[in-house]
Amino acid sequence: MEQDTTRDTPRYPGAETVEDFARNVAAVRARMAAAAERAGRDAADVRLLPVSKTVPEERLRLAVRAGCDVLGENKVQEAKRKAENLADLDVSWSVIGHLQTNKARFVAAFASEFQALDSLRVAEALDRRLQADGRGLDVFVQVNTSAEDSKYGLPPEEVPGFLAELPRYGALRVRGLMTLALLTGDTDRVRECFVTLRTIRDRARQDAPEGIGLDELSMGMSGDYEIAIEEGATVVRVGQAIFGARATTDQRYWPG
Ligand SMILES: *Cc1c(COP(=O)(O)O)cnc(C)c1O
Repeated sequence: MEQDTTRDTPRYPGAETVEDFARNVAAVRARMAAAAERAGRDAADVRLLPVSKTVPEERLRLAVRAGCDVLGENKVQEAKRKAENLADLDVSWSVIGHLQTNKARFVAAFASEFQALDSLRVAEALDRRLQADGRGLDVFVQVNTSAEDSKYGLPPEEVPGFLAELPRYGALRVRGLMTLALLTGDTDRVRECFVTLRTIRDRARQDAPEGIGLDELSMGMSGDYEIAIEEGATVVRVGQAIFGARATTDQRYWPG
């Protein structure tokens, strides 16, 4: 991520101590509250999901001590390793990246939430495993709102049909929809993605099957969470603004 060279402070200040994490989280929460206020919304209706991908485990311990009790991870293997090595902590795990069917069993075993559901095969694999273990899992259906071929998520027109199939998978507690906006500095186009997700949700709600919850909209990241909140986000997934700028290229997480 580029830094704002007109100021002394980097755009995403790093965090190496518990106090640093507390400061970064407080700063994000303050901006979330301001965005909610602008939109006439209650800030308590928007959840902050800290995204800890690429961040080493020692630093995650500090973030947890600073109050982060759920952490979001894009890649299953990385999330699984962290969940195992940090099993002594009181923290739960949200998987927010694309999942292959053959890795569904891992997610079923350690995650409390999966935000990137976009195939019935994965739904089936998750459900089978969860049923066997007597567990449930909160899920979000990922929608491709930017019409980019390279991104995961269902095309908007497939969402209603997909939701209609989900009651078959009783261990999946469907909470809402998730999207990644276009990665661009053009805030109008970013906002359009968020409006699209909300519109799809509002329409789908009218004939969603019983038991399929669509109250949640997971949208917005470090660069655009305030816009997302203005457009109705109930969950924002924020990594760099809490953990500091990521060196790893996002191509590793968003193929294309
Ligand atoms: C990495 C990631 C985020 C957070 O991005 P930041 O720029 O670190 O805030 C949000 N959602 C998904 C799916 C991600 O992979």
